Amino acid sequence: MFPIIAELLQRFNDRLDTRAIIIEENALEEGLDALTSYLPEGPWLVAGDDNTWKAAGQDLAARLNEAGLSWSRYTVEVPSDGSDPICEDGRIAAFQQALVQTNSTAAIAVGSGTVNDIVKLASHNEGIPMASVGTAPSMNGYTSGIAAVLSDGVKTTVPCTAPLVVIADIDVMAEAPYRMICSGLGDLMSKPVSNADWQLSAWLNGTFHSDEAMEIIEAGAAMLDGVAPALPDRDRQAVAGLTASLMLSGLAMSVAGSSSPASGGEHLISHFIDMTAIAFDEPHDFHGCQVGVGTITSGLLYEKLQALDPASIDIDARVDALLPWNEYEELLRERFGPLFESVVKHAKPAYPSPEDLRRRLTLLCDEWDYLKTNVRRTLRTGQSLEDELRAANCPVRFSELGVEPDRARRAIVHSKDIRNRYTILHLAWELGLLDEWAEEALETLA
Ligand SMILES: [Zn+2]
Repeated sequence: MFPIIAELLQRFNDRLDTRAIIIEENALEEGLDALTSYLPEGPWLVAGDDNTWKAAGQDLAARLNEAGLSWSRYTVEVPSDGSDPICEDGRIAAFQQALVQTNSTAAIAVGSGTVNDIVKLASHNEGIPMASVGTAPSMNGYTSGIAAVLSDGVKTTVPCTAPLVVIADIDVMAEAPYRMICSGLGDLMSKPVSNADWQLSAWLNGTFHSDEAMEIIEAGAAMLDGVAPALPDRDRQAVAGLTASLMLSGLAMSVAGSSSPASGGEHLISHFIDMTAIAFDEPHDFHGCQVGVGTITSGLLYEKLQALDPASIDIDARVDALLPWNEYEELLRERFGPLFESVVKHAKPAYPSPEDLRRRLTLLCDEWDYLKTNVRRTLRTGQSLEDELRAANCPVRFSELGVEPDRARRAIVHSKDIRNRYTILHLAWELGLLDEWAEEALETLA
């Protein structure tokens, strides 16, 4: 259905774990062949929660039985308060134990983000292969070699083996809860700003950047043409485009060996919302819905950066204003409370020395045009990002995510400390402008 996907799997065969991606109507038909071709002979452990089992698990179970394959079912419990299950250490350990107890030779995840991440990481830890049967086009992790985990209260991504086979039935994907479809679009809409962050970091810090991954990301972006306005009708072609684009986004991360091509400051804003939701029992939304609002925010911050006169940057003053690490650490302790111990591990290696800061800001000012040419190339305005999300009825305001104004402000100004990856949030902070720009962005987003 998508020749480019088969082409990429072939071309990057040596770097990718994934051998087959099947996106079509009635995908389990061809999918079963792929499972038996690429997974070792059973028993297989098939995991899903009650909802994903209804969406695709039952159909898969019937087909496995019909083919006489050996398998057993593992139920990922949904919390009794009705909240979404989370991929955290305890659930990963429980699935690993089940794999051992059932002598399974392979695992199959039936579900989207959380179920996939649990199965992916647990299987990886046990050294056994896995496959994914998707139930919602809600995130780009199906084909990625990383899993998002809540570990010690902090959202982190952990490298792991990607699924050998990914199966996405278009009818199943199209009938997913609509908010999950919004989440998939929101996750992909981050591309213009996450790529700008990636480029920004490569420029100012010399970090790794991959043209091959960018090429895949661009191909994925092209698949989103005209998709947003057709999603509310659950148009099959639009859902197929969204699903394929998500798969390409995951492949780009796998080819780059990092989530950088698809995750910048907008993801930190989303991760901050998740972390505080769990630690302080506050509301949150699907990953990509939060990423969508974070993306509009990042887009607005980049507009502020581009409007800045580099002559106004007083490098000496910025270096003088840099707090010594131990004083900044105390600030973090106040800000993050019970999350401090986990956050500080990520914040410390990212904290600049006065020399780092001077070098980076000098480079920024000296080569300011690079911002206007290379970094800007992928960018879009906050408004155009918002318009596309609106066309699909996706949330575009923090209030629509249940995030009240002060928490939204903290998500923008404090989330840079939860991961060691340079983004627009870090640069704005180093320029001493993050608080001001955050207030202005929030006014625009009120
Ligand atoms: Zn994401």
